[in-house]
Amino acid sequence: MATFDVIIIGAGPGGYVSAIRCAQLGLKTAVVEGRDTLGGTCLNVGCIPSKALLHATHQLHEVHENFEKMGLMGGHPTVDWGKMLAYKDDVVGGNTKGIEFLLKKNKVTWLKGWGTIPAPGKVQVGDEVHEAKSIVIATGSEPASLPGVEVDETVIVTSTGALAMQKIPESLIVIGAGVIGLELGSVYARLGAKVTVVEYMYAILPGMDAEVVKTTQRILAKQGLTFVLGAAVQGASVKDGRATVTWAAKKDGKETSLTADAVLVATGRKPYTAGLGLEALGVELLPRGMVKIDDHFRTSVPGIYAIGDAVPGMMLAHKAEDEGMAVAEVLAGKHGHVNYDVIPGVIYTTPEVASVGRTEESLKKEGRPYKVGKFPFMGNARAKAVFQAEGFVKLLADKETDRILGCHIIGPAAGDLIHEVCVAMEFGASAQDLALTCHAHPTWSEAVREAALACGDGAIHA
Ligand code: FAD
Repeated sequence: MATFDVIIIGAGPGGYVSAIRCAQLGLKTAVVEGRDTLGGTCLNVGCIPSKALLHATHQLHEVHENFEKMGLMGGHPTVDWGKMLAYKDDVVGGNTKGIEFLLKKNKVTWLKGWGTIPAPGKVQVGDEVHEAKSIVIATGSEPASLPGVEVDETVIVTSTGALAMQKIPESLIVIGAGVIGLELGSVYARLGAKVTVVEYMYAILPGMDAEVVKTTQRILAKQGLTFVLGAAVQGASVKDGRATVTWAAKKDGKETSLTADAVLVATGRKPYTAGLGLEALGVELLPRGMVKIDDHFRTSVPGIYAIGDAVPGMMLAHKAEDEGMAVAEVLAGKHGHVNYDVIPGVIYTTPEVASVGRTEESLKKEGRPYKVGKFPFMGNARAKAVFQAEGFVKLLADKETDRILGCHIIGPAAGDLIHEVCVAMEFGASAQDLALTCHAHPTWSEAVREAALACGDGAIHA
């Protein structure tokens, strides 16, 4: 048995980041992780492996679509799927080992195994019971199931199975047109699969800016993805190694069935908190096992805190990381804070899609007067040079004060461009502040400045 100031259960982006910050703030810290490797969903079966496959297949797409246009002739590589998966695994391995190094460097103890909380101030891992002044639940999430669709991780897969398919399917049905469904759908479409995305709502990417949604769907459809919207999946069955999915159209109830080599169930994730012993402790839970917390990440039981995918809010790695740092500050007697109004969301398709802050739809609903500055990448020389001029930057600012309220980008490196707007929003900047900032030419970020100019007297290149 050992005694710590803080024991964190789960070493995903929430847990390991929190552990490092706790240690940096002088707390004797341990992190419990049941997987063989650190980094949680994000590094092992989420953000990082998916981005590796997106990168590899984007290169393939570039070779096929754009190389000859640039005078690069004769490049028609074939895909060695085993090697591509090995590359992805290498990327994951390098990163998870990196986290192990960081924990050692910061003198954080890794308690290997699955943890439970037998009583406040106690964490059990295997036969050992450890003591801690504070416990942080950072146990993350797992794929949500869908009634009538039984996942076998071979033919009917979650994102985890989709990142390690035995072979590239010739056809794939993706259930759910959210971020994970579109990213992995893109991967397999670029690898030659016929991809059909079936979505319950009447639009893809629920909750995102409507114009961005429309443009994204149009571009992905051009890349070969077929969308079936307003379709309620009734069930899926497997026969002779192939799966048939049946859905009913919401508007008239008409049933349709489609058979494919594989089905990806991408209908969301749910908190992974079962088995920790929370009910017995009296930790208040919300529906689906989500842990209820207050503004300081405190659960209903003193000394037990929770962060990341296990608590309400966006299920994003960087949100978990920010909460991890903030709870560490709270535990060290400082003022941990997360600004939930400025958390960017990114979809790593080509082109990328990124957004932060308010959408036009939410501002209209609230009745808040706003102005829109929009700039198409068609007016950006650099975007045209890389064949990615189809998207735009849309900046939203308060009509009276000019304060930036939100930004929505579809275009090259949108996931990086968005951070200039995040910083501006954190500083309470106006659109004019961005417009008056000199931006290097030729860069994609000039499109952000042009959108800011369009909030005032007008963009130059539109
Ligand atoms: P997790 O990363 O889920 O980590 C929790 C850890 O706790 C796990 O390692 C688990 O093994 C461990 N654990 C659980 N219970 C116990 C226990 N009792 N004892 C010991 N250990 C335990 N987010 C982004 O921001 N960007 C992306 O590009 C992105 N892409 C994604 C792609 C996919 C395919 C998926 C599935 C997710 C993606 N996400 C992305 C979401 C992101 O992975 C999660 O939001 C993030 O990992 C949440 O971090 P966390 O620390 O809360 O939990």
